[in-house]
Amino acid sequence: MTRKNLIAGNWKMNNTIPEAVVLAQEISNGIYPDILDEVDVAVCPPFVDLKPVKSVFEFDRVNIALGAQNVYWEPKGAFTGEISIPMIKEIGCTYCIVGHSERRHLFDETNEDVNLKVRALIEAGIAPIICVGESLSVRDEGVYLDFVTAQVRAAYAGVEAADAVNTVVAYEPVWAIGTGRTATPEQAEEVCAAIRATLADLFGVDVAEQVRVLYGGSMNEGNAELLLAEPDIDGGLIGGAALKASSFLEIVKAAK
Ligand code: PEP
Repeated sequence: MTRKNLIAGNWKMNNTIPEAVVLAQEISNGIYPDILDEVDVAVCPPFVDLKPVKSVFEFDRVNIALGAQNVYWEPKGAFTGEISIPMIKEIGCTYCIVGHSERRHLFDETNEDVNLKVRALIEAGIAPIICVGESLSVRDEGVYLDFVTAQVRAAYAGVEAADAVNTVVAYEPVWAIGTGRTATPEQAEEVCAAIRATLADLFGVDVAEQVRVLYGGSMNEGNAELLLAEPDIDGGLIGGAALKASSFLEIVKAAK
């Protein structure tokens, strides 16, 4: 089965509105519209940048999708500081990153929180990009496959097979995020294949073959091609290299 690669840029807490507009415009100017038939492209700016970035893409009629970096699962109410799924949907997000390791480690997001967000996003028709990945100590202990597949099982608890089809998993080894230390294609493929086998166990082979599994962790224009050549890697979640239009666009090209 051929899956369309997805390249998603996670801008993290970078770019004021004017900076975000410049970056979005550079990406829009530099992308060959035809490439979007072969590769899905998304950017995930900070909440305040979503609308201005959407306006750039709309004005240019370029089919680059928008994602949020986080969301709360309740639809509204007294949750000071949180952003709801109806809010990001109204702005035009079709993706939302969930369970990024920075949220798990810096903001104590648990597997249960991730599951609540995944279920609420699915209900709203937004595709969650579910981040999983082991720390260096877990890798060194040799139990990383058990660790990552347990995160996958927890994220999908209570999800029906028909709803799992439109979800995305991003394997992001914590030791490779923002460190410049990328997993080798073989290391990344081993875990992405184990993630797909877990999805097959949960939802059947047919569904597992349709779910996109991305790699994230210091992916850049120099290493993307080899990583993306692996059979179970269907794109990338890009942090640092997504902040420079030329690097991001090179990665998009490598995903053709
Ligand atoms: C990320 O934060 O999702 C990520 C992969 O970051 P980087 O590419 O900078 O390692």
